[in-house]
Amino acid sequence: MTQSTSVVESPASVECVDCQSPRTSIWGDCVLPPARPGLPQIEREFIAAHGSGQLYNCQNCHLVFRHPQLGDAELQALYATMPTRRWRYEAEANTAWTLSRDWLAQTYRDTDSLRLLDVGAFDGVFLNSLAEKWSRFAVEPSADARTRLEAMGISVIDHWLKAPRSGDAETFDVVTLFDVFEHLRQPGRGLADAFAYVKPGGHLIVSTGNAEHWTFRWLRGEHWYFHALQHLTIGGGQFFRNWAEHHQGHIVYQARHPHIPARYSARCWRTMESLTWGGLRRPGYRIFSKLALRMAPLRHLRHRTTGPYAPELADHLCVIIRKESHS
Ligand SMILES: [Zn+2]
Repeated sequence: MTQSTSVVESPASVECVDCQSPRTSIWGDCVLPPARPGLPQIEREFIAAHGSGQLYNCQNCHLVFRHPQLGDAELQALYATMPTRRWRYEAEANTAWTLSRDWLAQTYRDTDSLRLLDVGAFDGVFLNSLAEKWSRFAVEPSADARTRLEAMGISVIDHWLKAPRSGDAETFDVVTLFDVFEHLRQPGRGLADAFAYVKPGGHLIVSTGNAEHWTFRWLRGEHWYFHALQHLTIGGGQFFRNWAEHHQGHIVYQARHPHIPARYSARCWRTMESLTWGGLRRPGYRIFSKLALRMAPLRHLRHRTTGPYAPELADHLCVIIRKESHS
């Protein structure tokens, strides 16, 4: 076990990266795991140059963000060279995809001419799992992934998420962002760009880490979600309600979900691990966490340098926002 850092919540002098409000508070240091074998050289260099940063909470727009962050050019260099073997999921192994597919099948069951755009489509597993009668499009930065998408017959309309060209604005019934929000330096603005593709009456589907889940409040910058340097921000119910109110949107669906489906027993152990790890950082709980570390299934935590990896817990949020018609 490494040093014990206490959780701090005090006024910070860092402005919100998205809304620029000075009303932010610090949540503590982000902690990256040791560089693992296979980590791309470019990523190792960025970690060496920038460190892991600290986590802040904006009391104006309710965004939780890492600061300092990688710059746009550094992020673009990371994603443009990312091979598709990284973060590959099967169609049933991503809970947000399953929830969204079910919602789409129900909501658009009588629709034959749906136009759907997946931002950050990666190797196209989600798009490829949808009804073939729907027209599927992608925004995707990875050159490797774009080749795969085009081989599947999916049109890639842009490499990066930005405001749509005039011919693409308000032409899609549905725009999806799965595991993209947390990679955006200014996610509120990124959502506005994505929303600009949506037709009035159409829907934006977003899934990301839920800042209101107890594990983020408990583990802060040691949460597994911030083990990746590219994960810059997370939202939550308050963030999305606030965003929708300011962008002519209306939330029609909201579900907490785990990143991957898991058995009850796995969820229980990840809960125990997370409780124990966070308790080690809090004086009033430390004695209980030290006792818990004597239990055989939790002993492995003694050798960790970062919080437990727990993608089985329902620490994500899937939100669907309808775009109101122009009045
Ligand atoms: Zn803010």
